[in-house]
Amino acid sequence: MSKNKKKTIQAKLLAKSQNIFRCPLCSNPMKVAYLSSLICSKNHCFDLSKRGYVNFLSNSIQTRYGKTLFESRKIVWNSGLFERLSENISTKIFNEFKPKSKQITLLDAGCGEGTPLYSIRKRIIQNTSNDFLGVGIDISKEAIDIASKDYSNVIWCVSDLANSPFEKKQFNFILNILSPSNYAEFRRILDDDGILIKVIPERDYLLELRNSFFEPTKKSYSNEKTLARFQHHFKILTADRLRYHFSLDGTLMDHLIQMTPLSWGISDERLLPFSTMNTKKITVDLTILSGKPR
Ligand SMILES: [Zn+2]
Repeated sequence: MSKNKKKTIQAKLLAKSQNIFRCPLCSNPMKVAYLSSLICSKNHCFDLSKRGYVNFLSNSIQTRYGKTLFESRKIVWNSGLFERLSENISTKIFNEFKPKSKQITLLDAGCGEGTPLYSIRKRIIQNTSNDFLGVGIDISKEAIDIASKDYSNVIWCVSDLANSPFEKKQFNFILNILSPSNYAEFRRILDDDGILIKVIPERDYLLELRNSFFEPTKKSYSNEKTLARFQHHFKILTADRLRYHFSLDGTLMDHLIQMTPLSWGISDERLLPFSTMNTKKITVDLTILSGKPR
């Protein structure tokens, strides 16, 4: 599909859902103008990119999460490593929504290159007749650029979660996968029955990498503080632990190492053994929390 056609399709999707937006600079409502910009009543204007995503940041923010990381993350997600996670989350969402007839609105806060949201969306629309609106935001422009390239029918935005471009009470679900939270903002933009679904690592998440990279004193991981913060702001409805093993071939292992911050600052000697192995078993150990604001 040509970039122009893609931009027009994305602009129409934005126009249909323009009520969810508010200006991140002055909080006034926004409208899509000429199928090419989102503009507020005080004339703050945010143009659609060639591929139709909106960048709400006036200055790009440098993060350690670069293009290579997101490309690797996409390959790892598409390999099936997190299939069970995506299945669990989509089942939660369509079970919750079955009896209702309204549109499902799902925000992925910290969506990266968009593969998790896109895979969850696919499962949900196969299983429900509800209308579905998926919105992904990430602070990394590189990530959103990759997302908008391959995944259509989802609204993609470069945005700071601390100053999100949304009106209050716009989402039935917020998804937050292995990514920092902003609970005040989550509370503001969730609707009255809204549910936050947050995925956090457990003790044995990517255990094999941890054991190989770190000295024994740094090996163990605890999610105690993350869990306490969640519980301070949100009342837990469900907490599902998913623990399983998955076999990755050499190339996928390289991509897994590229995508995880665990490998940052680790010497090549420590990384090398993984690259040279043909097949390696890896442990996935995660908890999927769902909750409502307290
Ligand atoms: Zn404005």
